[in-house]
Amino acid sequence: LEPIHVIGGGLAGSEAAWQAAEAGAKVVLHEMRPTQKTDAHQTEGFAELVCSNSFRSDDHQHNAVGLLHEEMRRCNSLIMRAADLHKLPAGGALAVDRDAFSDAVTAAIHNHPNIAIERGEVAGLPPEAWQNVVVATGPLTSPALAEAIQQLTGEDSLAFFDAIAPIVHHESINHDIVWAQSRYDKVGPMGNGQDYLNCPMDEAQYHAFVDALISAPLHEFKDWEKVPYFDGCLPIEVMAERGRDTLRWGPMKPVGLTNPRNPTVKAHAIVQLRQDNALGTLWNMVGFQTKMRYGIQAEIFRMIPGLENAQFARLGGLHRNTFLNSPKVLDANLKLKAMPRLRFAGQVTGVEGYVESAAVGLMAGRMAAADARGEQLAIPPATTAMGALINHITGGHLEAEAYSGARSFQPMNVNFGLFPPVSITKPEGHVGRWKSTEKTIAKKEAITSRALDDIIAWA
Ligand code: FAD
Repeated sequence: LEPIHVIGGGLAGSEAAWQAAEAGAKVVLHEMRPTQKTDAHQTEGFAELVCSNSFRSDDHQHNAVGLLHEEMRRCNSLIMRAADLHKLPAGGALAVDRDAFSDAVTAAIHNHPNIAIERGEVAGLPPEAWQNVVVATGPLTSPALAEAIQQLTGEDSLAFFDAIAPIVHHESINHDIVWAQSRYDKVGPMGNGQDYLNCPMDEAQYHAFVDALISAPLHEFKDWEKVPYFDGCLPIEVMAERGRDTLRWGPMKPVGLTNPRNPTVKAHAIVQLRQDNALGTLWNMVGFQTKMRYGIQAEIFRMIPGLENAQFARLGGLHRNTFLNSPKVLDANLKLKAMPRLRFAGQVTGVEGYVESAAVGLMAGRMAAADARGEQLAIPPATTAMGALINHITGGHLEAEAYSGARSFQPMNVNFGLFPPVSITKPEGHVGRWKSTEKTIAKKEAITSRALDDIIAWA
């Protein structure tokens, strides 16, 4: 039987190789370290954690990444097994002894009778003879392979850095202040000229905002993380420094928009939010990529009228990260449309984080094994954390046709905004007002319990 070739022995590639091998397929795992190094990895072990040793919250009832842990455990995940074996005390978080963790993954891969290991870079498109390939080469994919993929997919299909604008939870936006309108009422994917939410600022608010941007502390970057600025993608604080009015001529320009609550007074500046997922639960701050430190970002963005109580699904950032424009170039089974023998997994697909990367590896490994058997594997239901993640990266079955072309694709951690909503009712016997904090907890519990039922059925 044709083996499956997995390229990259990181979080995603190790999990993919394990899942495929456990499903009975023969696997060759290709890892370029130690012959070729990356700027971040220090060892030659598989699943090396390049920075923090935390898998974040392990609370599977109230936290989306905790739920993802639990779903992966139910799917025989090697990464979760090794993490649980080598966990360290960290309150509600799952932190691991990084060396013992990586050693455990490496040993499991070495000892698996269905896995062969080949050390060395795949320095270009994989040979024709490899018909079932999982590319899991991560945010620091070697340049030779990245260039080959870019030639295949086109200029705008592979990003080499992350310029991330913050993403806001819709329910935390103040709708007494913002209004829906596209600039010049241009009819876009929603078909009604109302694709954006607009946050108006008067002159005093604008100047206070610019002052705050200019004085905000910036994230300290390591040398290799430094990325050149591209004119189309300057951080907002850099624009603010270039001139008081630069932002008013750029992402905060107030033209072509009329506030229905105050139609005769023109706003001095306007921040626009654009819908970021088909459910409409997540909204992206247009043009707001930033290098400001996380804590201060939230504080400064809450100065924007309409965002006083904003909750962020993710904050802005700018760092080196190779990832595909997956909704455009991958199909629902993570295969490259331009060359379907290549399936992608891990951070290179545009998920973010150790756990998310491994989860996509888990799905890709099972899909590749199904292909080897001449079958096709259904993707996990959209109600599960794994299904929500794959929908985010491929555009999946939740995405309306017209809408999917329009959205901006930004890497993302798993979060509750990616799940279809659940309806909840006040528990019987509850006395008094049902507080919003109680409702939020009930909603999370309903989502996570539905997800676990559904993932068990899928697994
Ligand atoms: P990786 O784990 O990077 O694995 C990719 C593997 O592919 C590597 O082993 C690499 O050597 C190999 N490879 C690359 N190109 C080739 C090739 N052509 N041929 C053969 N092998 C190849 N996430 C977090 O959750 N927490 C953090 O604290 C965190 N910090 C980070 C810090 C840095 C500096 C970076 C770069 C990323 C960080 N991330 C963090 C994101 C992290 O990289 C991912 O979460 C995770 O490692 C991605 O898993 P992966 O399997 O997709 O990629």
